[in-house]
Amino acid sequence: MGRDLDPSCRKCRREGVKLMLKGARCESAKCPMEKQWRQNPPGMHSYPHRKNSLYGTRLREKQKVKRYYGLFERQFQQVFAQAQRSSGNTGEALLSLLERRLDNVVCKAGFASSRKSARIGIVHGHFTLNGRKVDRPGILVNVGDIVGVKAKEPSQKWARANMESRPAAVQNWLNVDPAKLEATVAALPTREDVQIPVEEQLIVEFCSR
Ligand code: SF4
Repeated sequence: MGRDLDPSCRKCRREGVKLMLKGARCESAKCPMEKQWRQNPPGMHSYPHRKNSLYGTRLREKQKVKRYYGLFERQFQQVFAQAQRSSGNTGEALLSLLERRLDNVVCKAGFASSRKSARIGIVHGHFTLNGRKVDRPGILVNVGDIVGVKAKEPSQKWARANMESRPAAVQNWLNVDPAKLEATVAALPTREDVQIPVEEQLIVEFCSR
């Protein structure tokens, strides 16, 4: 399994949008995107006002979503292929599949401060799905599934500390019970549940070349 060692804030600066990759720091004044002079793309020869080609625009949209959900290119292409096989709008299906990933659910429920932190927690066995231990961050949740925190003190303590430092935003498709440290999937996520500004049609056009 590869490791993504690229600096997180650099990714936000490249995409020109807050990707919320660092938990509480993203909501503080320490976030570089809060400073005007740090909002330019990274690199010595960055041209903030340069006009992108159509290819470049589509590429940036794909990279933005890939980085937001913390996927490698190969993983992203696998999810895209799955979205293409589904009936309905491919772009919306792609976003729905990405939202349903277990690491995203753990993060949105507030049990982890970021998707990266959620992935580490899942791989280390701190979470359960329908009462059974899981260690794969890419599992897709379904309606009625219950994501919980392992009934061990270190796991519960870690999740509670995360919930206190960064309370979960209300999600239409997730019912979070902070006392039990459980999140129930009430419905499949729709396009409206995706919080990052994205034009999914551009991604479909890029990946369908
Ligand atoms: Fe860094 Fe988070 Fe701000 Fe992105 S949103 S620049 S990851 S602090």
